[in-house]
Amino acid sequence: MFKERLERLQKMLEAPLLVLSLGNLFYLSGFRGSLGFLLVLPEGKPFFFCDGRYVTQSREELAIEAEIVEFDQDVVESICGVLSSLGLNCLLVEDAASVSFARRFEGKSCSVSFVPSPVHVLRAVKDKEEIQAIRRAVALAEKAFLEILPLIREGVEERDIAVELEYRMRKLGGEATAFPTIVASGKRSALPHARPTACKVQKGEWVLIDWGVRVDGYCADLTRVIPVDKTASLCFKEAFLALQEAQEVALSCIREGIEASFVDRKVREFLDKRGFSRYFTHSLGHGVGIEVHEEPKLSSKSTTVLCSGMVVTVEPGIYIPEWGGVRLEHMVLVTEYGYILLDTLPEVF
Ligand code: ZN
Ligand code: ZN
Repeated sequence: MFKERLERLQKMLEAPLLVLSLGNLFYLSGFRGSLGFLLVLPEGKPFFFCDGRYVTQSREELAIEAEIVEFDQDVVESICGVLSSLGLNCLLVEDAASVSFARRFEGKSCSVSFVPSPVHVLRAVKDKEEIQAIRRAVALAEKAFLEILPLIREGVEERDIAVELEYRMRKLGGEATAFPTIVASGKRSALPHARPTACKVQKGEWVLIDWGVRVDGYCADLTRVIPVDKTASLCFKEAFLALQEAQEVALSCIREGIEASFVDRKVREFLDKRGFSRYFTHSLGHGVGIEVHEEPKLSSKSTTVLCSGMVVTVEPGIYIPEWGGVRLEHMVLVTEYGYILLDTLPEVF
């Protein structure tokens, strides 16, 4: 599969491309170190540049045939040297490169352009192995969540819930959390990215939990809201019901060939009818894979047309300042005729 990914990338290239972002390196080669450079030529074997720390590791991890070049001090010198030995004098570099790295090409013999990486376009559509890894991550995230569910009751601190959930995800075999877990109760749930605090969950409140784990290099990302007792307000019920319907609106639109912005717009139109659209303050969803936020975005500004094989979140939310917020986040696989729901947890607890 790595070979196919590399070949697909090579078909897109008219000049050599320097891949340096870690997610893209992992996607193309299987390398999981913290520093490496893959020089992909439009044809032929790529060159992998690493320092002394990663020579042995790269020999073990690289799942593609590549010439491993160990660099001493200056990787830019090393890259330009390889290019000139091949008679090449231009280079595309992923625009994820830092300014200081970019400056190191000044005065060198090859002409360099910094470009949005075409690897992100490839990564937006998942292959079979990636979908399996994402499914494993989702299953593990769900199992950990169900294990900590009894903990959610009046008097427990938000951060205790978060710590316990993160521990369970690691204990069950997750490599790491996919992002810092969000646990927000009461009015704090109106903050879409609230950090867990020592606040204790109160009677009549609900807890918003947004959590995820990384398994075999791939992420899960889910959100549920859990009322702590049966006394949640009418307003909570109304907002939550609107969210469930907003989910249905979104899912009924999703399939290959539909514009991502259209799905976002339909959900906003629906929430508008319910009087909630001004409280939906972020985009509808995002791609998930090696990174928890990647292409495509389900947002009003997106120009992406959905393709079969894309994995996206659908996460409408309603955040009312000084009252609280609710969000419901599913993960779906886009297919030719619709979608496949990747998570299996119920929406209501
Ligand atoms: Zn999330
Ligand atoms: Zn998300």
